[in-house]
Order: sequence, then C-alpha cells, then structure tokens
Amino acid sequence: MKVTEHLKQSEKTLFSFEILPPLKGKGIEAIFEGIDPLMEFNPPFINVTYHREEYIYKKFPNDLLRKVSIRKRPGTVGICAAIINKYNIDAIPHLICGGFSVEETENALIDLQFLGIDNVLALRGDPIKTESTFVAEPNGHSYAVDLIGQIHNMNQGKYLYDEVENSQKTDFCIGTAGYPEKHYESMNMKTDLFYLKKKVEAGAEYITTQMFFNNQKYYDFVEQCRKMDIHVPILPGIKPITNLRHIAFLPKTFYIDLPDELADKLMSCKTNNDVKKVGIEWAIKQSQDLIENGVPGIHYYTMGKSEAVKEIATNVFK
Ligand code: FAD
Repeated sequence: MKVTEHLKQSEKTLFSFEILPPLKGKGIEAIFEGIDPLMEFNPPFINVTYHREEYIYKKFPNDLLRKVSIRKRPGTVGICAAIINKYNIDAIPHLICGGFSVEETENALIDLQFLGIDNVLALRGDPIKTESTFVAEPNGHSYAVDLIGQIHNMNQGKYLYDEVENSQKTDFCIGTAGYPEKHYESMNMKTDLFYLKKKVEAGAEYITTQMFFNNQKYYDFVEQCRKMDIHVPILPGIKPITNLRHIAFLPKTFYIDLPDELADKLMSCKTNNDVKKVGIEWAIKQSQDLIENGVPGIHYYTMGKSEAVKEIATNVFK
C-alpha cells in the first residue's frame, strides 16, 4: 500500500522508522533483530536507506596501490523484499541519483515493481566521500527532481526513449526529502523551498524531513511550505542522540543545530549513558509535542540501533 494511503486511513500519528543495510558480509538476522522490538508499535512501513559506492586505496601483492570502488552497505532492495516477506508490511527503498545512469534507474524501478514495492523515497544522494561536490553519472540525474520525473513518467507508462509500446504503468508513491534547516548547498531557505516545490510538481506525494531537534523549526518549515502552495504531507524526522560521538557528528554531517536547552544538558554529560538518557528524554518530548500538534506520522532515524527508538515509542505510541 502507498504511504499516502496509510496516512489517509489513519486517524492517529503513524509510527515509522528507517534502517540501514548491514555492513557487507553481515547477515539479514542483524536487520531482523533491529526490527523485531519495534513491531509492537505497528509501523505501516519501514524505510531502507541506500548507500552508494566509495573509493579506497588497496595494496596489491606487487606493492602497487590501486583505487577500488566498494559498497560497504549493499542490499537495500533485497532487505525491502525480506521485510515484506517476513513482516507483511510495506518497505520503502531509498533510491538515489548518485552512481546510477537513467537506464540503471529504470531497471531498478522495474525490479521494485516486480517485487510488489509500492513506494520509493527519491533522493539525489550526497557526494562520494572522497569528493567535495556531487557529480552525476554521465547519463544520470543531477537532482532528485529529475529522478522523480523519471519515476512519474513510468507511472504514466512512459519508459526511456519511448521504446516500449503498450507499456504497463508503474504505480509508485514517490516521497522526497525536505530540510527544516535548509539543505546545506542552498543559497537560502527560499531557494531550497523553490526546488522542493519543483519536486512536488514533478510528482512527489509526500515529504520526509531531515532530522531536527527544535520542533519550532519543523512548524516554521511546514508553514513556509504551505505558503508556497506545497500541500503534501510532511513527515517529521526524529533522531535520538545516544552517544558522545553524536554530539559533534550530527551537526557536522547533517548541517543541523541543537537548541540551547539540549546543548546545555549534553554539555554536562560525561558518559555515553548520560548522553543516551538526555537524548531519549529529548526525543520523547519532541515526539509528544509533534503528536499534540497533529503531525501525520513520525519518521525515526534508527541508524541501525532500535533500542532508543523502542524506549521513545513505548512512552509515546503505547
Ligand atoms: P535535491 O532535492 O536534488 O537537492 C539538492 C540541492 O540542490 C539542494 O540544495 C536543492 O535546493 C538544490 N536543487 C534541487 N533541485 C535543483 C535544480 N533543479 N537546480 C539547482 N539546484 C537544485 N542519502 C543517501 O545517499 N542515501 C539515503 O538513503 C538517504 N536517505 C535520506 C533520507 C532523508 C529523509 C533525507 C532528508 C536525506 C537522505 N539522504 C540520503 C541524504 C540526501 O541524499 C542528501 O541530503 C543530498 O545532499 C540531497 O538530496 P535531495 O534528494 O534532497 O537533493
């Protein structure tokens, strides 16, 4: 079922979460162990992130260093199929522009359709770790809006180069990303919202936000979207801070600010356990406030660890 249908059918705020494929070489059990504890909160869908290739230098027997391309977390589509099979709920693969030609994108979407996957979160993806700017494949998409356009075309039965006659239409519900604190490459919020609107006009039916720690930023973002005539549902993204490393890592990686009250509390933390307690309490407060304000759903970033999200959901969704 489509995300938009789940949202329409539900009278309550929906609980959903995002998982990462395990590191290459690890089994699917690690994924199930992360999902099992959260199933009691009835997630209608689970998102599975996509991780593009990275380049590393590998020493070969002749002592030469060779640049090789590796994918540390492959398996997004297979994990989605495994989730549908095991839990009988929807799985949403993230699909990115980076590393894909338009033909490869089309093939990936055909696979998803055959697997009975109804939803796709369409993203541009970040630059490769060793590069400073995003570079599209020679025949790939430069922006998420173009990927959304391609999926939308397939939903109209239009395949690449008009080579298929009497084609079957796909029926994907397309999600897109939104940034309450603006995307880091945007000149300002106004231009970011301008491009967000283009993504909705191209066919995106709902928005999932980047994590934020100050709910007012989300409320302002929603208000600005509505003023710009962006009327699709906007799912807030919540991430519990659970260790000392997160304190520097999250702002640096996701270009987000922590509010003073939270930062003050974190500054007095000495151990990972102290941080975890503060982070979970904060996420519970954020979630309760979002629910009181009638958000359609909350999307939790688990980053592969479900324990903190379980504690939050126990306080908020039970
Ligand atoms: P876009 O919408 O293409 O925007 C990128 C930038 O370009 C923005 O600054 C925008 O304002 C600007 N822009 C957009 N269109 C145009 C245009 N036509 N002309 C000029 N400028 C334009 N990354 C992954 O690699 N894998 C994942 O699984 C993943 N999941 C994510 C899930 C969520 C909910 C979120 C919020 C992000 C996720 N990301 C993921 C990260 C995302 O790929 C990065 O934030 C990326 O830098 C931007 O992706 P986007 O889809 O928002 O890009």
